[in-house]
Amino acid sequence: RKRHQSGERTVENILKPLDLTDDHYIKVMDLMHGDIIKGLTPETHQKANIKCFPTYVRTVPDGTESGDFLALDLGGTNFRVLLINLNGQEVKMESKIFLIPQHIMVGSGAQLFDHIADCIFKFMVDHKLQERHLPLGFTFSFPCRQEGLDKAILTTWTKGFKCEGVEGNDIVKLLHDAIERRGDMHNVKCLAVINDTVGALMSCAHSDRSCAVGLILGTGTNACYIENLSEVKTWDGDFREPKQVVLINTEWGAFGNDGCLDFILTDFDRSIDKHSINPGKQIYEKMISGMYMGEIARLAIERLRKHNLLFEGEGSYHLATRGRFYTKYVSEIEGDNVDGFKVTKQIFDELDLSTHNEQDCRLVRHVCSLVSKRAAYLASAGIACLLNKMNRKEVTVGVDGSLYRFHPFFHDLMFEKTRQLTRPDISFKLMLSHDGSGKGAALVAAVANRLL
Ligand code: ADP
Repeated sequence: RKRHQSGERTVENILKPLDLTDDHYIKVMDLMHGDIIKGLTPETHQKANIKCFPTYVRTVPDGTESGDFLALDLGGTNFRVLLINLNGQEVKMESKIFLIPQHIMVGSGAQLFDHIADCIFKFMVDHKLQERHLPLGFTFSFPCRQEGLDKAILTTWTKGFKCEGVEGNDIVKLLHDAIERRGDMHNVKCLAVINDTVGALMSCAHSDRSCAVGLILGTGTNACYIENLSEVKTWDGDFREPKQVVLINTEWGAFGNDGCLDFILTDFDRSIDKHSINPGKQIYEKMISGMYMGEIARLAIERLRKHNLLFEGEGSYHLATRGRFYTKYVSEIEGDNVDGFKVTKQIFDELDLSTHNEQDCRLVRHVCSLVSKRAAYLASAGIACLLNKMNRKEVTVGVDGSLYRFHPFFHDLMFEKTRQLTRPDISFKLMLSHDGSGKGAALVAAVANRLL
């Protein structure tokens, strides 16, 4: 890399802050453990970043769930309505994606829920379901304080949503109000709200009884895990048998909001936070998830370019544009064949970067791998923290999200680092969850429906 030196700014100097050590990751685990305890304790809950909301989900599916269910999935890129048929291990599913237009994402809450009710209605007409009474499970993947399985108060919007009048309100009531406003959908009733982490856990637990952690690595990041009620000092539900456990939705994306992760933040992270619609919030999420990883890479690449360490200093309008270097580019570049860098060069083309040689390809790939490695290892520190805390001998982690699904090395990076950070007597698996948001919502609605 000698040739890349220019003045005192070297490639190494610019990229070093992205390369964290094991001591960093161990410190992250310790901090997370402390914050989780804070979240689970009533006296400190208010101050905790990791809120650890009890979900009111008390059991994993037993595999005998059956019937037809509606499910909604809202919480990121796509809004979906699903019809799910459960019959033992057999799960049939039909779904339709509906767009949430940008002006609704940042409009009023009533508009958002009217739009959702419209979509449900259209779906029911298309599937000739108007006359049926179908229990509905809602996967709503934003931080909520649950007051019951069917009562979820949104604490704060994340991931690009910002609808007026929803924070502080029960989203089931908002949905039912919108359904009522239509006047033609009396037979749709929401029985349960979960988030995507719970969906991932439930859908994996449906076939693997040792699944006890759900993890999302998509637009955002979050995790849930099965906790003993005796540890959940904030629990105000019942203590009914059979199991003295409850799923805890950690909302760990907010980890670091108090500044405790400042010791690992880079200039790139600070820039992303400053220009986001939620500055100072979701600090851990902004270092890990798909909404931000590409942008971290772009900022590092731009810094190198400005110091004439890439592309002979030649930039482009696209490379200078926030959000234009997609996270999928990171996956594609890392998965590219180093013999020829065909895909990488294609991406350079898309970005109007015309001055590049093989050395540039190698360096951009190196930047991408540093960014993904840090993201994967930070998520591993989180998972290892949960595994050590749960102290079960054998745990399956159900994982969902496009970042985990499509990145060529995310699974391997995470497995290796989680193994290293988890106590040796604990064995674990990382299992890809299929359609967790839909299937999970149906499973929880099925259990709720049985208990009615
Ligand atoms: P969501 O989390 O919104 O429900 P996804 O799990 O599909 O939905 O995650 C979307 C995120 O995944 C986006 O931020 C996008 O940048 C990222 N993503 C999409 N494709 C890829 C890919 N091939 N590699 C890495 N990240 C990707």
